[in-house]
Amino acid sequence: MAGLDVQIVAVLNDNYVFLARDQDTGAVAVVDPAVDTPVLEAAEALGWNISHILVTHPHYDHIGGIEVIKAKTGARVIGAAGDVDTIPGIDQTVADGESIRIGHAKAHVIGVAGHTQHHVAYWFEDAGVLFPGDTLFSLGCGRLFGGTAIEMWASLKKLRALPANTLIYPAHEYTNANADFALSIEKNNKDLKTRAKEVLKLREQGKATIPATLENEIKCNPFLRADIETVQKAVNMNGEEAAMVFAEIRRRKDKF
Ligand code: ZN
Ligand code: FE
Repeated sequence: MAGLDVQIVAVLNDNYVFLARDQDTGAVAVVDPAVDTPVLEAAEALGWNISHILVTHPHYDHIGGIEVIKAKTGARVIGAAGDVDTIPGIDQTVADGESIRIGHAKAHVIGVAGHTQHHVAYWFEDAGVLFPGDTLFSLGCGRLFGGTAIEMWASLKKLRALPANTLIYPAHEYTNANADFALSIEKNNKDLKTRAKEVLKLREQGKATIPATLENEIKCNPFLRADIETVQKAVNMNGEEAAMVFAEIRRRKDKF
């Protein structure tokens, strides 16, 4: 069984870069390197040798560190085929339904259009770890820059269908602000209230609010709950198509 160690590296204002190490072989993937130096330093401190760079989408705060990290480590850069022209130094393209290996650790590539058109998530099934980039945040989701609400809802449903114990490592620490918004939709959701309190405490201690479990996100994250009656009623859209309810929640968040 391929075990995976994940190290969180906090960079810029609120970005997370991840180092994921295959326990069998010691192969190490960097996920979405916004910057180079802090990531290289973190890997060095751990004694980990970076062998791969996984890119979820080519926004600057996910790719800014690629060129230097690649130059210093010789890492293989992997990203979506649709983003081949915008990911610097890309060596290998992937698409929805394909899989890759970091050493022995296998990651499924899941196409999650919405935040960007070609956005992909990486799911390490055996380890139960998901890197959703800017598609799914704890208690939130990415803004629609490259896709429609219909596409994003379909993408979120794909992620929602993964095993409940999956650990989610989103690329931003937005959880506290997301909790305020989520409570504006579901002020009586007990699980959400519990999570909001926990998040506040973690942030006061300067700690990351991730990983989050998918199970808890399904209970608390309004963007995963557009087909749930309480959420539909909260936005006066009971019985309407879930994608349209999702679109309304996304609109409200944009203005929140
Ligand atoms: Zn982004
Ligand atoms: Fe981002």
